[in-house]
Amino acid sequence: MPKVLYLSHAPDELYDVMRKLAAPSLELITLCDNSDRERIEKLADVDAVIVAAYPFTRELIAAAPAMRFVHHQGVGYQDTIDLESFRRTGARLAITPAGTTIGVAEHAVLLTLAVLRRLSFADAELRQGRWHVNALRPESKELAGKTIGYIGMGRIGQAAAQRFRAFDTTGVYHDPNVRLDAYAETDLGLRFVPQRELFEQADVVTLHVPLTADTHHLIDANALALMKRDAVLINTARGPLVDEAALARALETGDIAGAGLDVFETEPPEPTSPLLGMRNTVLTPHISAGTIDAFETKMRAVFQNLHRFFADQPIENEIQLH
Ligand code: NAD
Repeated sequence: MPKVLYLSHAPDELYDVMRKLAAPSLELITLCDNSDRERIEKLADVDAVIVAAYPFTRELIAAAPAMRFVHHQGVGYQDTIDLESFRRTGARLAITPAGTTIGVAEHAVLLTLAVLRRLSFADAELRQGRWHVNALRPESKELAGKTIGYIGMGRIGQAAAQRFRAFDTTGVYHDPNVRLDAYAETDLGLRFVPQRELFEQADVVTLHVPLTADTHHLIDANALALMKRDAVLINTARGPLVDEAALARALETGDIAGAGLDVFETEPPEPTSPLLGMRNTVLTPHISAGTIDAFETKMRAVFQNLHRFFADQPIENEIQLH
């Protein structure tokens, strides 16, 4: 029976979900603790690995000589798998858009509303006995009528655009590889624009691109300077897309009005990060796709694909690296 290791350490409740959904034709192996020592021991004879947020490093890849297939539980494989070492193994790779897209798209809307209403600040203050019934009015905003700027119009960008549209927004988008057809653009109230124009026109800039050498620090001091002073930045993609020091300066000086961040350059962020003390930020711990709904959907898709792979059937969502 093929052995499949789940590379991240997870709570027992999630292992239970996985065991319930795992294909009976596979042996699922999980970790007892979060150590690389245990990972290396267990990787020694596995046929496949399920990768989530924990990095599949060169050292770990080298510890799995029999591995023939890796299934990423999400879609952002570019920065979680050491691709140079992985290519050398000749193993195949698939990703899991099912379950990932909706959670992240919903989270982008959630963070945007929360930043526009200063939700984290209002909630924390109320719990301390401070009742800001009018104090937040000058800086609280509605989503209706705003222009959303989508950097990246792939699966999540499109799912986010559908959801933002329900709040009576229009949008501009930029993606070097995707042009929506005229019907979709009209339906979603979207226009394709050069990246610079997007920064200049958007009330909300939301990031939906992978982290690669090209997109590292896509949001730097120059991009922030182009943005409107009352604009909000939303990042549910990857932390290093944003130069965090430049973002903190822009938020402090009022060059932009707020930020909603699910991902950070260092995770968790350093306790000294200025972003933690700001009332115009809403911060979450990389949980955009972290719902139980998403996990069940992902695991169903992952185990179906693993079953197909070991039954020599065509697999879905394969990434061609070789
Ligand atoms: P996708 O591949 O469907 O879409 C990404 C899009 O980005 C593509 O259309 C691509 O052409 C575009 N792109 C690449 N470089 C660009 C650039 N410089 N400017 C504008 N567009 C550019 O991927 P997806 O499923 O939409 O996921 C997007 C990203 O979201 C993932 O790569 C991952 O990093 C991130 N993500 C985060 C979480 C989370 O928990 N926070 C969960 C899932 C995915």
